[in-house]
Parts: sequence; C-alpha cells; structure tokens
Amino acid sequence: MASGGLKTKRVDVTTQYLDLFANLIEGSDGGKREFLEIGRLAGNFPAASLGGSGHVAGPDSISVWCSNDYLGMGQHPAVLEAVKDAVDKYGAGAGGSRNIGGTNHYHVLLENELAALHGKDDALLFTSGYTANDGALSVIAGRMEGCIVFSDALNHASIIDGLRHSRAQKQIFRHNDPAHLEELIAAADPDAPKLIVAESVYSMNGDIAPLAELSDIAKRHGAMTYLDEVHAVGMYGPQGAGIAARDGIADDFTVIMGTLAKGFGTTGGYIAGPAEVIEAVRMFSRSFIFTTALPPALAAGATAAVRHLRTSEAEREQLWSNAQLMHRLLNERGIPFISDQTHIVSVLVRDEAVCKRMSTLLLDQHGIYVQAINAPSVRVGEEILRVAPGAVHTADDVHGFVDALDQVWKETGHPRMPATQAAP
Ligand code: PMP
Repeated sequence: MASGGLKTKRVDVTTQYLDLFANLIEGSDGGKREFLEIGRLAGNFPAASLGGSGHVAGPDSISVWCSNDYLGMGQHPAVLEAVKDAVDKYGAGAGGSRNIGGTNHYHVLLENELAALHGKDDALLFTSGYTANDGALSVIAGRMEGCIVFSDALNHASIIDGLRHSRAQKQIFRHNDPAHLEELIAAADPDAPKLIVAESVYSMNGDIAPLAELSDIAKRHGAMTYLDEVHAVGMYGPQGAGIAARDGIADDFTVIMGTLAKGFGTTGGYIAGPAEVIEAVRMFSRSFIFTTALPPALAAGATAAVRHLRTSEAEREQLWSNAQLMHRLLNERGIPFISDQTHIVSVLVRDEAVCKRMSTLLLDQHGIYVQAINAPSVRVGEEILRVAPGAVHTADDVHGFVDALDQVWKETGHPRMPATQAAP
C-alpha cells in the first residue's frame, strides 16, 4: 500500500508508459470524454429536473433529455418503497455470487415475473444488460457445435462482445436488411446450427427491426433467434413486454433479452427463454457465475417496476404522445432525425464539433442536458444528439425543448436538412 494514505506518487519509470496512454487519448477519433455530473448540477436530482418542471433551468436545476429512465420508474414511489423496504430487510448488497450464497428470494421473484411477462419458461438475471448479452451469447452461440451466427450490423457492443467470446463463426447482415440476411443464410451450410441476433429497437438509431421478416427467415432456415429488447421492454407491447409482443410474435423469438436499467428504472439485465437454454446459460456463463449477484433491493425495486408497468398504460401513453409531438415539431422546423418509429429521437448533426457545441449551448443557455454522441457509440461523421423524451416530460416541456434546439441550431448556423424519414 502506498505510504501516506490517499496520496499518489509518480514513479519515473512509469512515465514512458503514461505517455503511451496520453498518446492514445490524443489520437482517439472520439475525443476526450467529459462527464456531466447530474447530481452536482441538479442538487439531489429531484424528479422535477427530469423535465416535469419545464425546460427553463434555475441555477441549481437542469432539464434532462437523454435519460434512459424513459418511464420515470427510477423515481416511482412504488419502486422506491420496494427498494427501501428490501434494504431494511436485507441490507445493501447480495453478499455473494448467485451460486454461492448470493441468491435472494427477490431475485427468484423477479425471474418469475420476467418469465411471465415474456411468456417464456424461465428467466435469468444478470448484473447488467451488458453482462447478460455477453454471458448469454457466449454460451448460446459457443456451445452449439459449428453454430453460424447472423448478426445485424448495428447490434450493440455487448452483443458483439458476447459473440466474440463465443468464438462462433459470425456473419454480419446490413442493418435492418432482411434480404441481405436471407442471402447470407441461404448460402450457409444447411446442416449447421444457426442463430439470428437482432435488437428490436436500435439504441442509437431509434428504429425498429423488421421482426416478422426476421422470424420468417429463421423459420424457413431452421435458425434459433435472440432478440435484444433493451430499449423496448416497459415501453411497448401489452404489459410492456416489448415490440415482439406488440406485434404478436414473441413466441417466434427463442430468447428475449432485456434490461432493468431503462424502462424499469433500476439496474440489471436478463434473458427469458426455454428452460433448457436458461439452465445452460446459468451453468456455463462466466459473466453470470463469476460475479456478485445484483443487490436484492434492486431486484425488489425492479419487480415493483415490472409489476406496475404490466397493469399501467399511463406511462406508455405519455411517452408515446411526447415522442410523436417531438417528431412533428422537429419536422416542422426542418431539424433532421433518424427515425420516427420510437421514443429515441436521434437528431442528426453529423459533425462532432458542432454536436458538442449544440450540447454545450443547450446546457449553458437553456439549462437543457442532452449528450452529444460521438465515436465509438456512432461512426465518425454520424454524430447525433440522442434525445429521449420521457414519460415525465409534459407536452409543454417538449415544445420548450424544440424551441431551444431551434435557437441553438440557428446560432450554430448549421444547415437544416430534409429529415431522412418524414414523420406522419
Ligand atoms: N443492449 C443494448 C441495445 C443497449 O443499448 C444497452 C445499453 N445501452 C445494453 C444492451 C446494455 O444494457 P445495460 O445498460 O443494462 O448494461
């Protein structure tokens, strides 16, 4: 341990190594990361600062437009109550991995609730959506001898990492292009096990996969399917079961994967599917086995969120009404965005410096926080302001937000472009 407690000392010999990292940062396409500390700027981050108080900021409050707590469940009284109650009963942490002392009754209740939500045999919890994709895909694709995986080009990093860890052969089909998938799968060995992996709502584009077509291809070619519904669970479909459920084809997808960190307002990830698949993942997934379980209190909070959203339509209705209003207002102002299919409104700036400047102006002049998204989350030259109108915003908030963005757009002199997809 270093002497002097928290003081650190630079040892000369490391300087050459530190230079390597300094060069790495300098040479990066994505630029340096800066965090905006929400708690610092917005006091204790009251629910109102998510947008309920309107878009005008006081000195200690900002209006947040890029939260993934899309439905405000992270602040919902039923969720907070459940978390507090479980903390009182079981404390702050799980105390072990799921297999060695860390499984609490709340984990099991939540897994049952999630299996029921998706109409699957079983569900399995992970500590995040990232580790769920990583752990589940490494087992599912990796343990099927000779498996060929067909993966959408815009699939999330956690999917990519899970597939890398599986070491299975991988073919990438063009984003949301079932014809390309068909071409690749038809050319593959008909006897090889196959797995098609897609997201229902794409995290950065906010567009929706052609699920019926993917499922049709899977059936015709005997492929298993894995659907990441991270940006859909809670928000779409009956009881918030996601897009596949909305389209009445949840049964066509072998495994449905989701997060507790977005629509359900807490943290954690899961898969739901056939008992054999869930059990195999439970037995072999390294990101399930070799880590401490989710804190029981978060499982309790997430269960309250899932249960609430299975019966309440109010949050989904408000979310969708805000999203549609934003699509319409942006179109009227000629501010381009990628897709009007979901609540993820990706405003296309396509310039890293301008995008960053817009984000700064929105914060400094309007008290609005929306993060500029650059590489590696999107490709260089495809920079966006990823706006997420939530259920906690009001229609007035949406008007206020678009007015502010309009002014900032003017101030930066950025050209207005025709939207790539016109809103209705
Ligand atoms: N899948 C997708 C499509 C995502 O966008 C994300 C995170 N944004 C994840 C998985 C990982 O989820 P989590 O944040 O719960 O780790």
